[in-house]
Amino acid sequence: MGITAVFPGTFDPIHHGHIDIANRGAAIFERLIVAVYDKPLKSLLFSPEDRLALVRAVFNSHSNVEIVGYSGLTVDFCEQVGAKAILRGLRVFSDFEHEFRMALANHRLSPGVEVVALVTREQHTFLSSTTVREIAALGGNVSSMVPPVVEEALKRRFKELGEGQTVVPMTALRD
Ligand code: ADP
Repeated sequence: MGITAVFPGTFDPIHHGHIDIANRGAAIFERLIVAVYDKPLKSLLFSPEDRLALVRAVFNSHSNVEIVGYSGLTVDFCEQVGAKAILRGLRVFSDFEHEFRMALANHRLSPGVEVVALVTREQHTFLSSTTVREIAALGGNVSSMVPPVVEEALKRRFKELGEGQTVVPMTALRD
């Protein structure tokens, strides 16, 4: 029987760096669950429902990719869905320390779940949700960074927040 993996993240919003990791994960694992964390300890631009809807819109034609919202510990979610692996993406060196720490903590909590990290593609090295939000907030062109459905959602959201909105919710430094 093939392995189910969970690709957890905040996806605020989803961008091509995430999509690339998910696609490569879907080619390795029998079943990939892209898991959208509902309330991370960071301020967000999009609601959990919007982030989930955007991830769904991006992966609607993938047969072995499921999209699920979750809260609580990622390892508990893995147990609920029968996942033996957590998929993560690695960009620059700052990611490594963070991912390393989380992988060790998750392994302590649930030794049966392995963390599998894929190294980003060169062209996505700089790409983060924070960068996308910052550029979009200032009216810049993010069409090479996110799919059209996300681009539209960013425009709508910043319009909703009002003209002159340049305050972009910070997530973590590494984002
Ligand atoms: P989290 O709050 O869990 O870090 P994110 O949505 O920021 O959620 O990221 C989810 C995963 O995607 C993380 O493993 C992160 O390292 C990875 N990721 C983010 N941007 C990229 C990118 N440009 N290339 C590869 N992986 C990425």
